[in-house]
Amino acid sequence: MIKENLNEVRENISSACRVSGRDSGDVTLIAVSKTKPVEMLREAYDAGARDFGENKVQEILQKAPVLPDDIRWHMIGHLQKNKVRQIIDKVFLIHSVDSVDLAEYIEKEAAKKNIDVDILLEVNVAEEESKYGFKVEEVMDAILIISKFSHVHIKGLMTIAPFVENSEENRDIFQKLYQLNVDIKSKNVDNVSMAVLSMGMTGDYMTAVEEGATMIRVGTGIFGARTKIGENLV
Ligand SMILES: *Cc1c(COP(=O)(O)O)cnc(C)c1O
Repeated sequence: MIKENLNEVRENISSACRVSGRDSGDVTLIAVSKTKPVEMLREAYDAGARDFGENKVQEILQKAPVLPDDIRWHMIGHLQKNKVRQIIDKVFLIHSVDSVDLAEYIEKEAAKKNIDVDILLEVNVAEEESKYGFKVEEVMDAILIISKFSHVHIKGLMTIAPFVENSEENRDIFQKLYQLNVDIKSKNVDNVSMAVLSMGMTGDYMTAVEEGATMIRVGTGIFGARTKIGENLV
């Protein structure tokens, strides 16, 4: 089932790319495996998935050691400072940096370990009260500060769009993040890349791809609905 789901998502990415004149090789599918047991991740791995997204540090720490080494782990959930040290050398990319404070903390811990850490800035484009992230108008100031750090490297932007019935309702959110990305790119800030645009989930990833997403985060569409917080995941 997971294999079929993955193939369906891949086909949908291809058709969204065709519609918008993009190369499907420019879009990375992240399989969001939060709450799901490792057997399901292994099934996705066997079907070719190499990028997995988790929103809890604990789950990455549990799952990573029992799965193949060539998996790229993406931290996509709110990251607490006291968990930073445990995770920064285990993840490929942190999508959810939502404050200058957190970036500064990651810098400090990365310096201690002498490692480089790639991050995205999470932008609360829709300005939902319940969501973390910078406001659009705060992003540039944050970038100017974080770009000075030597171990933390900004690779782009991420947003979590609102839950909507019709993905068209989120098109303007995706357009806004894309435009912000273009504006920042044009400023050519040292140590800042805007290569990554992480946007789109199960309900709206095709629209996100049409609007320029380079990473989409799909959970339900691959692994099925999440019922409760998983136990015995490993
Ligand atoms: C859970 C989650 C997703 C995946 O959501 P689905 O609707 O199941 O595809 C994507 N991004 C983030 C940040 C998430 O927490």
